[in-house]
Amino acid sequence: MFLPSFEMTSTSRHSACISFINTLKLSGMPGSGMFSPFTIASNRRLSERIPYPLHLGITEAGTKYTGSLKSAVGLGTLLADGIGDTVRISLSTFHAEEEVKVAWEILKALKLREKGPVLIACPTCGRLQFDMDSVVAEVERRLEAYEDPIEVSVLGCAVNGIGEARHADFGITGAKDAGMIFSKGEPLKKVPTDQLVDELFKEIDRYYASGKTVVRDQREVAEATQWLSENEDLSAMTPERLAALEKEKAEAEAQAAAAQAEGGRVVDESSSPTAGRRFTRTG
Ligand code: SF4
Repeated sequence: MFLPSFEMTSTSRHSACISFINTLKLSGMPGSGMFSPFTIASNRRLSERIPYPLHLGITEAGTKYTGSLKSAVGLGTLLADGIGDTVRISLSTFHAEEEVKVAWEILKALKLREKGPVLIACPTCGRLQFDMDSVVAEVERRLEAYEDPIEVSVLGCAVNGIGEARHADFGITGAKDAGMIFSKGEPLKKVPTDQLVDELFKEIDRYYASGKTVVRDQREVAEATQWLSENEDLSAMTPERLAALEKEKAEAEAQAAAAQAEGGRVVDESSSPTAGRRFTRTG
C-alpha cells in the first residue's frame, strides 16, 4: 500500500514521565476525507517500528458532526487495535469542551475508560408513538449531572419486549399515552408518557439514595408487567419467545426419543394423509 512520507513533527519529553509522545502528522493528502485511512495505516506502521507511546489525532477533521465521525473512525480503529496512548480531537468549534466530550465518547464506546453514564437509544422505526427525539435529548442532558458509569436505555416501544436492554441499569420504553421504567430488563413502574423522563430520574436518584440498590414496589411492578404484556406484539419474536419455542421443541424431541426407546410407535401426524382433517361426530 502506498504510504506518504511522514515526519515526526513533535517529539516531546517530560522529565518526570516515561519517555516520548509521538505525533504523526500527514501532509499533502488529497482532501480531508482521506486523512483517516492514511492516519490509520501510518500509525499502524509506526507502532510496529518504534517502542514509544503514540499520540493519535485527526488534523483538520471538520465540524462537530463530520469531525467527530472522522475522529471516531480513525482513532477508534487504531485504539481497537491497541494502538495509541493519548488522543486529540480537533473540531471547528470555539467550545473546546466539545472535543473533550467526543474523546471520552470514543474511549467509552471501546470500553477503554469509564466516565459518566452511557446512554443507549433504539434507532426508532414506524412503531414509534411518542416524541423520542426530545426524550433522548432530555435524558442525555440530565445525565450530564451524574458521574457514575451507569447505563441508561431508551426504547421507542415495547413491541419487542425489553430483553434487548436487559444489561441497562435503567431504561424507559413508551407508547402513545403510557410508558414504563425498567431496570436490568425487569419492569419497575408504569407512568404517563409525558412523565417518563422525570420518573426515570426519580428512580435513578432513589437507586443512589439507597446505596445503589434498585427499589421495587411490588404493586407498581405488577402494574408495569401488565402494561408490558399488553403492549408486546404477540407475533414479535423476542429472545424470550424464541427460547420458549426452542424449549418446547427440545421437550417434544425428548418425548419422542423416550417413546422410541420404549419400543413405542411414534406417529408423525404431519405426514398423515388425513392431517388437518378432523371432525366431530354429532348425535
Ligand atoms: S424499540 Fe420499537 S421503536 Fe425502537 S426500533 Fe425497536 S421496534 Fe422500532
